[in-house]
Amino acid sequence: MEKISCQVLVIGAGPGGYVAAIRAAQLGLDTVIVEGDRAGGTCLIRGCIPSKAIIHAAERFETLKTHQTSHMGLKVEGDISVDMAALIDWKNVIVGKLNKGVEGLLKGNGARMIKGWASFLDGKTCNVTDSEGNKIAHITTDNVILATGSQPIELPFMPYDEKFILSSTGALDLEKLPDKVAIIGGGYIGLELGCALRKLGVEITVIEGLDTVVSIFDDEMRRPLERWLKKNKITVHTNCFAQGAEVSETGVELSWKDGEGEIVSESFDKVLVTVGRKANTKDWGLEEMGVKMDESGGFVAVDSQCKTNMRGIYAIGDLVGEPLLAHKASAQGEMVAEVIAGKRRDFEPAAIPAIVFTEPEIVSVGMTPDEAEESGENILIGKFPLAANGRALTLEAEKTGGFVRVVARQEDHLIIGIQAVGSHIAELSGAFVLALEMGAVLEDIAGTIHAHPTMGEAFHEGVLKTLGHAIHSM
Ligand code: FAD
Repeated sequence: MEKISCQVLVIGAGPGGYVAAIRAAQLGLDTVIVEGDRAGGTCLIRGCIPSKAIIHAAERFETLKTHQTSHMGLKVEGDISVDMAALIDWKNVIVGKLNKGVEGLLKGNGARMIKGWASFLDGKTCNVTDSEGNKIAHITTDNVILATGSQPIELPFMPYDEKFILSSTGALDLEKLPDKVAIIGGGYIGLELGCALRKLGVEITVIEGLDTVVSIFDDEMRRPLERWLKKNKITVHTNCFAQGAEVSETGVELSWKDGEGEIVSESFDKVLVTVGRKANTKDWGLEEMGVKMDESGGFVAVDSQCKTNMRGIYAIGDLVGEPLLAHKASAQGEMVAEVIAGKRRDFEPAAIPAIVFTEPEIVSVGMTPDEAEESGENILIGKFPLAANGRALTLEAEKTGGFVRVVARQEDHLIIGIQAVGSHIAELSGAFVLALEMGAVLEDIAGTIHAHPTMGEAFHEGVLKTLGHAIHSM
């Protein structure tokens, strides 16, 4: 067993941990990162990247189908089919490239990666064990960055077998396309995968406990998605709770309690459970470190520099709670490395963008009108429809409805929130969050020339609308 001592030890090479390790090494700190699975973490191996690859492939397939009858003067002759195994291979090539890229970046920047599972003996010492259970390293360190991430929550009466009862991980590795799938949980992960599977031709039923799907968004933001779900014959049962599943050789008999308290059951080829994620806090010695948990008890408690209550122990990413997003994890990782290197940094973003890659896509940055009013702000709101944006029409991005909505403070016109819905609208999130982070007022964006024809003009027009004088909308 190798004995190692270092200045910074990072546990977990997801978007939180690997960014922290790269930045720490760039700053000249002697850095070791331990990863039990593959570099890239949930995001790269079984989350953001594989899901967006499959979403893109599904969109291509759907587009080809629209050309079976002549559309835009383009016609596809003959059959169009999905070879799911080949699609998954294509997705795996992308994942493989990015995984090797992360490993290369760690090495190139001078961070040493050790492949194995870390288990802490105390706050500054851990053992690393390989997949066969052999102890391969004993590490002592000055600083620890915990970035162990999260995993899908399992329903106790419906354990994952990844054959019939799938987590998101299993759903991203389907070798054969099922005919009929139930999705338990109409949050963003369930609906992103649900929209993609529907486009690939799968019959989808969503079972949601609340009275709407993606309930984090307001009615206006949800409406275009709800219309798409209806138009594409996705059955959505709201106020319903899964009760049990009987798995047989051929499929699953799923039962749920409906809004009236009646038990209903139906057969599916597979059931995908997406009821949320929980932090990885167990079985690696977190208890031995004396680290305090937050009030919920599910996440590690940290301050604005991601310091835990124990000196020299930091925690970042999904392990420290909402929002469970890759870009939040990376931003915290970069900051913590700089804090350890002696820089003055705090994690105080003006906004963390949230995007749902459904059809259409939904973007939210900063406060919604309801949130702004609840916090006592007097606000101005302007909403510009994508149907009035030339580029959106050329891309057919307005077809699912959609808009850019701007929320600003009445007294000084400070932009405090931007929400947008529409196909391809996720690409505007950078402009939105930049406006908030730079403290832009409406007049700053109004006075910025946006290139034509781009969907970015919809943001400009949304701002003009908020000022009461949009050009291309009344
Ligand atoms: P993780 O990425 O979970 O990485 C933690 C790593 O730590 C893992 O690789 C794990 O193997 C390792 N580890 C854990 N314990 C140990 C140990 N004891 N020893 C060694 N290694 C250990 N987020 C977005 O921002 N945008 C999206 O579009 C998006 N889409 C998603 C789609 C899906 C289907 C899923 C499941 C998630 C998605 N997410 C998305 C969420 C995103 O993946 C997470 O927020 C992000 O990966 C969290 O990063 P992290 O570094 O905190 O943890």
